Amino acid sequence: MTRADIMKIIEEKNIHFFRLQFVDIFGFMKNVAIPRSQIEKALDGKMMFDGSSIDGFVRINESDMYLKPDYDTFVVLPWRNKEGIAAARVICDVYMSDGVTPFFGCPRVNLRRVLAEARELGFTMNVGTECEFFLFEFDEDGQPTTVSQDIAGYFSLDPEDKANDCRREIIEVLEKMGFEIEASHHEVAEGQHEINFKYADALTCADNTITFKWVVKTIAAKYGLHATFMPKPIFGINGSGMHTNQSLFNLEGTNAFYDEKDKLQLSEVAYHYIAGLMKNARGFTAITNPLVNSYKRLVPGYEAPVYSSWSASNRSAMIRIPASRGMSTRAELRSPDPSTNPYLALAMMLNAGLDGIKNKLAPPPPVNKDIYEMTRAEMVEEGITVLPGSLEEAINELKQSPIARETLGPHIFEKYVEAKQKEWDEYRCAVSAWELDNYLRVY
Ligand code: ADP
Ligand code: GLU
Ligand code: MG
Ligand code: MG
Repeated sequence: MTRADIMKIIEEKNIHFFRLQFVDIFGFMKNVAIPRSQIEKALDGKMMFDGSSIDGFVRINESDMYLKPDYDTFVVLPWRNKEGIAAARVICDVYMSDGVTPFFGCPRVNLRRVLAEARELGFTMNVGTECEFFLFEFDEDGQPTTVSQDIAGYFSLDPEDKANDCRREIIEVLEKMGFEIEASHHEVAEGQHEINFKYADALTCADNTITFKWVVKTIAAKYGLHATFMPKPIFGINGSGMHTNQSLFNLEGTNAFYDEKDKLQLSEVAYHYIAGLMKNARGFTAITNPLVNSYKRLVPGYEAPVYSSWSASNRSAMIRIPASRGMSTRAELRSPDPSTNPYLALAMMLNAGLDGIKNKLAPPPPVNKDIYEMTRAEMVEEGITVLPGSLEEAINELKQSPIARETLGPHIFEKYVEAKQKEWDEYRCAVSAWELDNYLRVY
């Protein structure tokens, strides 16, 4: 997409409103809306914003920052077309106030840096995320609840699936925005859904993931439903994961994970990559699972991993190698959840895998039995480690991880740790409903 292509579409579609989007270090989508008269200035990367008002960005004395649009992310917003007046968006990289230096506190800029380093080693990264979510009702005051009217289950069909129309419109909108939808189904829990879109290079996948969450929330609201990507909204049923399917391709476009001669048809590169993910998993979990609530999903019994292990078939493993081979040869990391910042998460997974490749690490043998049935001793023997059990434990691991420090860069690393520490402290001091239920009467 060129500047001229964009201007042509703006004329043809009568675009009057233009949104410049970027993400903060927590993965929240930020948005500056500008009118028609400012579009050319914006396309030239001359739009400024106050970086000091974005959490984790910069201090007040260095606050003027530039938004440089990535033309390839330009898209007309299908749901914002009133009486022939349309709106469009473009995703931006954040630049310093000199207008030429990329800002390394911008997660998108940071991911580009990590991807460029992988390219030096001869690899591009392809990723397909599977973001699960719940559709809930609002109460009479307009507040979201955890109530869902639907009583449907996994892969169920009409007529029980009450959110079906909503899900269908989400898919239509995504397709209009250029997504290639591969599948959509009701998930295991009541009110839980999944829509899968085709994998892409890592930067595009991160862009698609934030766009996906935005579209799902927007269209759900139109149906009077609240879409949430909170990892574990309800105790006792499945939480929502963001399985991350990943593969490295060689620069000439072949899948570097595939080797038809190997027993499992996996290459040396794939084995090293898996070993790197496993070695660094405890260190990167604070990024892939960033909330206090994330750790209520990573418990036994709900199809989410608890232990660091890999398998060609087992869904209790942290890394599953789906059966497809050839161009689709990939590792599915099952621990991340959709509250993660995808730009940071993909950078972390890539560098973890590259650590395995650079150091020629070998993974422990695959675990094909149900890990929940194994004893502690058997686990140690099989090289299985436990993922962090709380945000506090995950932050401590993150702080000790050299790969995390290098991947996030000093700015994001420090701001992230500081914010997550604060989040944990607030949670630790809060008195929960569980405590009142269990202690108030008894003591
Ligand atoms: P599951 O069986 O876990 O539900 P799905 O088949 O729903 O998995 O999702 C698979 C995801 O993997 C899709 O997003 C798909 O595009 C993606 N995928 C396919 N091939 C590759 C690849 N080579 N690299 C990364 N992702 C891939
Ligand atoms: N919802 C499960 C999780 O928390 C995953 C279910 C599935 O395998 O799709 O990861
Ligand atoms: Mg799923
Ligand atoms: Mg999956």
